[in-house]
Amino acid sequence: MEQSYLETKGRIFNIQRFSIHDGPGVRTIVFLKGCPLRCRWCCNPESQEWHFENMVQGGVTKLVGRDVTVGEVLEEIARDRVYYRRSGFGGMTLSGGECLWQPEFSEALLRAAKEMGISTAIETTGYAEMDVIRRLLPYVDTVLMDIKHVDGEKHKEFTTRDNAKILENARQIAKEANCLVVRTPVIPTFNDTESDIRSIAEFAKSLGTVREMHLLPYHRIGSDKYAGLGRTYTMAHIEPPTKEKMQTLLSVVERVGLKGQIGG
Ligand code: SF4
Repeated sequence: MEQSYLETKGRIFNIQRFSIHDGPGVRTIVFLKGCPLRCRWCCNPESQEWHFENMVQGGVTKLVGRDVTVGEVLEEIARDRVYYRRSGFGGMTLSGGECLWQPEFSEALLRAAKEMGISTAIETTGYAEMDVIRRLLPYVDTVLMDIKHVDGEKHKEFTTRDNAKILENARQIAKEANCLVVRTPVIPTFNDTESDIRSIAEFAKSLGTVREMHLLPYHRIGSDKYAGLGRTYTMAHIEPPTKEKMQTLLSVVERVGLKGQIGG
């Protein structure tokens, strides 16, 4: 492996081992710093800013973020290879934040993982130039892409960004990716009606190559981080969707002709 790209630097805030929710099998999740969106419900608000931030949790102040090389991350990933093998098809998932915001680092890390025979996935908003996304795609086995809403105004109101670029990129990614799975966080007052979910599922189906859509129920885990960062959590009054509601929305997805799943 070329030494140069093992030395490519990136900024992360966590590496989480043994996840079963972020791609197939047992995954190691690398959480990158920096995100172009500001979703009201974000459970990783410490991911959003590029700069290092102090976060208070349980009375302890810690600095969020560290600069690492691809080689350093790979060392940690390599420790889990035995678990990937045992679970059949586990591997590494880049999450965040938004991995497309650090294309050099993400590309080098994905490429290095593939060269080690490790399966790869990215969790992404798809909010970037298509040229950037194309750099990563050859090294990604599964793209887990959020489609949060098909209505641009509503999308902007709740995430601060319009969705035109995201929907346009989704059409292209569907043609070029090895596997594209659409994921939708189900957020009461934003996109939790049957009509909202049907519109997203129909869009996903129209992409032609998408077989699966995952519905991720809104939760409040991570809401205490907002106070720890000196920010205000504006969703405190929102109740998570009930199991019955999620089942109803799941059947909407299935009626559109996609394999649905609750949770990621
Ligand atoms: S896209 Fe993800 S990481 Fe970025 S603000 Fe939204 S929920 Fe948070």
